[in-house]
Amino acid sequence: MTAEKMDITENNAMTDTNHGLHYEENLLWEKERTDHPGVDLPEPANTPLRTGTPARADIGLPQVSEPQALRHFVRMSTWNYSIDHGFFPLGSCTMKHNPRLNEKMARLPGFAAIHPLQPESTVQGALALMYELQNWLGELTGLPGVCLSPAAGAHGELAGVMTIARAHDLNGQTQRKIILTPDSSHGTNPATAATCGFDVRSIPTKDTGTLTIEAFKEALYKTDPKGADIAGMMVTNPNTCGLFEKDIAAIADLLHEAGGYFYMDGANFNALVGKIRPADFGVDVMHINLHKTFSTPHGGGGPGSGPICCTPELAKYMPVPTVIKHAESYALETETDRPESLGCLKGFHGQFGMHVRALAYMMSHGADGLKQVSEDAVLNANYILRELENDFHAPYAHQGPCMHEALLTDKIQKESGVQTLDMAKALIEKGFHPMTVYFPLVLAGTMLIEPTETESKDSLDRFITAMKEIAAEAREAEAEERFHTYPQTTPRRRLDEVKAARNPVLRWKD
Ligand SMILES: *Cc1c(COP(=O)(O)O)cnc(C)c1O
Repeated sequence: MTAEKMDITENNAMTDTNHGLHYEENLLWEKERTDHPGVDLPEPANTPLRTGTPARADIGLPQVSEPQALRHFVRMSTWNYSIDHGFFPLGSCTMKHNPRLNEKMARLPGFAAIHPLQPESTVQGALALMYELQNWLGELTGLPGVCLSPAAGAHGELAGVMTIARAHDLNGQTQRKIILTPDSSHGTNPATAATCGFDVRSIPTKDTGTLTIEAFKEALYKTDPKGADIAGMMVTNPNTCGLFEKDIAAIADLLHEAGGYFYMDGANFNALVGKIRPADFGVDVMHINLHKTFSTPHGGGGPGSGPICCTPELAKYMPVPTVIKHAESYALETETDRPESLGCLKGFHGQFGMHVRALAYMMSHGADGLKQVSEDAVLNANYILRELENDFHAPYAHQGPCMHEALLTDKIQKESGVQTLDMAKALIEKGFHPMTVYFPLVLAGTMLIEPTETESKDSLDRFITAMKEIAAEAREAEAEERFHTYPQTTPRRRLDEVKAARNPVLRWKD
């Protein structure tokens, strides 16, 4: 393949060479030499095939040697930036260190080598572990009905909103068609509500960054004076602006009076763990991202896990299975045990390896350690906010401390033509993974920074210095042109993202 053919890499010659230990990597097909077979020896002449005819068809695998194949994949693996490389300030995602102890526990043969189809009597230890995790999550949230099976946060949202829908259905409340959600909510919230057949009504929060009782009431009673058409609300707390919803208990009371259920998006639970239980401010059902709050790996590091926790009232309707305890043994409950359940949402019982990791994390921290986690996460975010609030527009900083993430925008820099995207690319040039950009959507050019508790003051200071340098550079002459050239020293320069999205080159050969 030539550089011209791969549109998005114009200016980047595709050569299989390295510069300063930055490896270029061609496709395996481009490396192959058909005159040099890979690991297969040539067929000996005049020997009949012992496997009979027809001979294996050529399926087009490239002919490369074992070292070539190994280097190819190892080099590509080094292109991934990860939490083990350095600071990962993505807001809303809680990219914290994954303690190696968790990994060690998950690899114990008694956990790693069991099979979901084994008889329950042979996996009592694993079931006991899941039961223990259910108890910890129930205790930390104040919501004792726990189902571990959802495979990610978004899947937990689906499970939780289906639980709400099931409760309304079985209680003859099918006229409840509307789910309320603030305009700062994560896209998965309205998407989940719509997927479950609800209409989504958005509540404006832009001016304050948080829900106000007035705005909430207006949305609640908009089409029915008693709110009898409201199924529930979906709220992230602390919200996606990094602020605690201070009127949330009063809002939950109003919602409950109208007969709706409160779904909390628990992605930001890292800021609350051990300090406050969501049940105490009125939550009926929430999901927990084990891969955010409880330190299990994200994405490529392993599957996600998004358990849900609910009130005893809603627990009858949530998905099966959960682990139940009989006098002497543990079992996975079935739909026969709990006929009101909405059914099974996931093969077997969920991502067991993540359950092991999350429980190892909780038990190694203990109740006091988990509390310290949220305090340190909030402290770190406020340190960043206060250090940067004079260099960047910090829309809600005047209201007081933030929770575990700091929100900035590009309002000041935009006056000289430098936008959030440019600053994110400049951060890459300075050796940092960018923060979450252009989210939440309530304001223009947002930058959401979540340091987590696992970053040292030293690493926060280096990030703050890089951000201050970027702000200073944005004030210089011709800043706009200069920022458009970033990043300059990465293996790939600025990509034409619009072109890549509109005209993706998805095939190697036409
Ligand atoms: C991450 C996140 C989700 C979705 O969780 P996944 O595990 O990625 O599916 C939902 N809401 C918020 C606020 C999030 O940050």
